[in-house]
Amino acid sequence: MASEFDLIARYFKRPAPAGMLGVGDDCALFGVPPGMQVATSTDLLIEGRHFFPDVDPRALGHKALAVNVSDLAAMGARPIGCLLGLALPTVAPDWLQAFSTGFHALAAESGCPLIGGDTTGSTLGVAISVTVFGAVAADRALRRDGARPGDLVWVSGALGAADIAYRLLSGQMPADAGLLAATRDALEWPRPRYALGQALAGVASAAIDISDGLLQDLGHVLDASGVGAQLRFADLPVAPGLDGVDPARLRHALLGGGDVYELCFTAAPERADAVRDAAARAGVAVTAIGCITSAAGLVVLGRDGQPEADLPRGFDHFSTP
Ligand code: ADP
Ligand code: MG
Repeated sequence: MASEFDLIARYFKRPAPAGMLGVGDDCALFGVPPGMQVATSTDLLIEGRHFFPDVDPRALGHKALAVNVSDLAAMGARPIGCLLGLALPTVAPDWLQAFSTGFHALAAESGCPLIGGDTTGSTLGVAISVTVFGAVAADRALRRDGARPGDLVWVSGALGAADIAYRLLSGQMPADAGLLAATRDALEWPRPRYALGQALAGVASAAIDISDGLLQDLGHVLDASGVGAQLRFADLPVAPGLDGVDPARLRHALLGGGDVYELCFTAAPERADAVRDAAARAGVAVTAIGCITSAAGLVVLGRDGQPEADLPRGFDHFSTP
């Protein structure tokens, strides 16, 4: 049986980028250019809570890092590196090989190398904790408190697919192989918008990733900024393949569905061309979906131009159903 140290060396130790000290010492070391601040964030993924026990381990490795890189993106930060804490009930080489392959592939693609971590046994299921570090110029970070009345509200990519995939896989919607095929990648292989986030630093006034649903996460921006917003339901970008979904189910997925690693951001209207330029450079679609208001509250205008009632709430781990 491989020791903890063999396991780390085999699956997790990779050469650190020049100028950095990676896996193998008591701490990792990295520098930040003058004038930059370190952006750091951590996310915990628990088997049975955040992922199905039988999920493809390569997808899980990808997603464990993706949800963290998405937080760097939402701050406008450039990834520097990450730490991985792993609690495992058993040492399964095939699982570790696939998990680490998915993890390292996104680490390489996004420039966020694995530079340290911790590995232990688990008496319960698998637990995965990833911490990311990034760099952002102090005055360009995309904080939640920067939205101003008159700013446009934008969203990247398309909405709805991850929530539908989750409901299919958890049995809350009847089995539908075609619909699952169209939506599953959005849930299991989210594409964190790190290029867009960096391109928006200094352009957008505020940003957040929609991991807990559009309305809930935009609500955090509104609270932090002391403003409100008006969205136009008809302008929300709908993921392809959702045409046949029941309209009430789809509405809930678009407004309240979580596990969406798109960015929702605000920018002054005169920055609209700069936003489109940033999106073109990042190769990501962006859509203006509404505007920031000085009146508090989040209003969604329906197709008839009237405010909609019964807006879905987003995901909250501790809310009672
Ligand atoms: P320590 O006893 O100082 O905590 P460890 O024996 O836990 O050291 O870890 C040895 C080295 O391996 C450290 O550099 C640590 O950062 C790294 N490491 C441990 N587990 C992981 C992991 N899952 N992913 C990446 N690096 C890891
Ligand atoms: Mg340790």
